[in-house]
Amino acid sequence: MTPPPDLTAAWWPALRPPPRLSLSEWAEQHARLPDGSRFHPHPYQRAILDAMVDPEVERITVMKSARVGYTQMLSAAIGFFAAQQPSKIMVVQPTTEDAEDYSKDTIDPMREWPVLSAKLADAGAKNKADTIKRKTFPGGSLRVAGANSPRAFRRIDLDVILFDEIDGYPATAGVEGDQIALGVKRLVQSVRPMAVLGSTPTIEAASKIADSFAAGTMERFSLPCPQCGEYQPLIWGDGTGAGMRWRDNDPSTTHYVCVNGCVIPESAKLDMLAAGRWIAEAPDVVGHRSFHLWSAYCPLRGAAWPILVKEFLDAKQDREKLQVWTNTVRGECWVDRGEAPDWQRLYDRREDWDAGTVPAGGLFLTAGADVQRDRIEVSVWAFGRGKESWLIDHRVIPGDPFTEAPWRALAAMLGETFRHHHGVDLSISMLAIDAGDGVTMEVVKTWARTAGPKVMAIKGSSLAMAPILGLPAAAEVNYRGKKSLLDAANGNEPPGSGDLAATLKRFW
Ligand SMILES: [Zn+2]
Repeated sequence: MTPPPDLTAAWWPALRPPPRLSLSEWAEQHARLPDGSRFHPHPYQRAILDAMVDPEVERITVMKSARVGYTQMLSAAIGFFAAQQPSKIMVVQPTTEDAEDYSKDTIDPMREWPVLSAKLADAGAKNKADTIKRKTFPGGSLRVAGANSPRAFRRIDLDVILFDEIDGYPATAGVEGDQIALGVKRLVQSVRPMAVLGSTPTIEAASKIADSFAAGTMERFSLPCPQCGEYQPLIWGDGTGAGMRWRDNDPSTTHYVCVNGCVIPESAKLDMLAAGRWIAEAPDVVGHRSFHLWSAYCPLRGAAWPILVKEFLDAKQDREKLQVWTNTVRGECWVDRGEAPDWQRLYDRREDWDAGTVPAGGLFLTAGADVQRDRIEVSVWAFGRGKESWLIDHRVIPGDPFTEAPWRALAAMLGETFRHHHGVDLSISMLAIDAGDGVTMEVVKTWARTAGPKVMAIKGSSLAMAPILGLPAAAEVNYRGKKSLLDAANGNEPPGSGDLAATLKRFW
C-alpha cells in the first residue's frame, strides 16, 4: 500500500543518509589552524583534499615547496578520517624522532578541534591504548611512525597511509625494502585504500617525490591571465619568456609575465587563484593524482612575489643557499648542472611550451651553431617583442666537420619550419655559426660563405646566447662568460639584453 504523498514527503528526509561532505567542505566547517581559528582551504588545496576521498584515486603525490599549507591539509585529512569516515590511519615521518615531534606538535593540538575533542582521546592518562605513537577513536586508529623503523609497518592493516617529507627518508637498509612499498602493502585489506606521498624535493638524482610526481597525473594549478584570459600554471621562468620578472635587482619591481607577454601585478593574484584549476600533463594516468605546488601560489603576505624574488637575490650567489631556495621556494629538485653545457641549463628550464614549437609571443627564429670535432650542436631561438626569447629546439648533428654530411644536415635545417602556436610555420631567419675554434675555423668560414645570406660566421666560445650576439652588426663579439649566463638562467635579465633591444630595432 502506498502511503499518502504528504507522508512520503515527510519520511523522505529521515531515510536519507547524513549529508556526504567532501573533505574540503568538512575541513571548511571543522578543521582549525594551530591558533584555533577556522581553516579556510585555499582554492588549490580543495581539489587535493577532495582527491583524498575520491574512490577512483588510490594514490596522491604532492611535490611542494614550503608555505603552501601542506601540514594544514594533512591535519584536515586526519581529522576527516577520524571523525567523518573512521579509518585506520598511519602517518610516516622520516625518523621516529620526527614522528614523536609530529604527534606532540601537530596531532595533540587537534584535540582542541570541537569536532574531535570527544573522539581523539588524550594520550596517556585517560586511555591506556593511546600513546604518542598510537591513538584510538571510535571506528579507527591513528599511528605515527618513523621511516627509519621498518618494524612499524609489520602486522598492521591500514586504510590510509600518509607519507610525509619522503625525500627526507633514510636510505633503506637490509632486506626490508623501500618504506613506501612496505607501507602501501598494509593497505591491501582496505575497501578504501589511500596512500598520500608528500615532500619538498631535494636533489634530482635522489628525489623520491619527483619520481612519484612523474608517475602520476602531473597536475599544475593553472590560473587565467587577467588580461588575455589564457590559463597557465605559475612558473619561475628563466627571465626571458613567461615567469617572474624584476628590474635592476630590485624586488619591488617584481611582476609576472604571462605566456602571451601580458604583465600581471601581484595584486591580481587572489582573483586569479579563485578562478584557478588543476590541469594534468598526464590525464590518462588512472588512480594516481600527482600535484605540484610552489610558494608563488600562496596568497599570504609572507609569500608575496617580491619576497620570493628577494629571497632568490639573497641566495643566488651561494650554491648551497640556492639549492635550499630551489627546493623550499620553487618546490623543484636541485639539478647539479656543473658539468652540463649552458644550453642544457636553459633548455631544462623550458617549462611552458613543447619542444620544437614556437610560443604565441615568438615573431621570428634565429639559430646558433657550435662546431665540435665530432658534431655540430644547434640551438634554435624564437624572439618576440621587447627582450623576450625562447629556446625552441636543440639538435646534435653527429659527424666529423671535415666531412660533408654534418654540413648538409645543417643546411637542411635552414629549410625546416617550426610550428607557431597560432598555426603558421616559421623558418630560421638567421643562423650564426661559431668560427672561433682554430682547428675548424677555415671549414666553418668556407661553409658560411657558400650557405647563403641566412648564415654568418662569428667568433666565440659558446653559442648559447648566439642569437643575441650573432645578429647583423655585431662586429665585435664579446662574451661575458658562463657566470652571467647562469644569472640569466636563474631569472635575471639576459646578458646583453640592452644591446639586444637595439639590435632588434636594426633587425626590423
Ligand atoms: Zn596574458
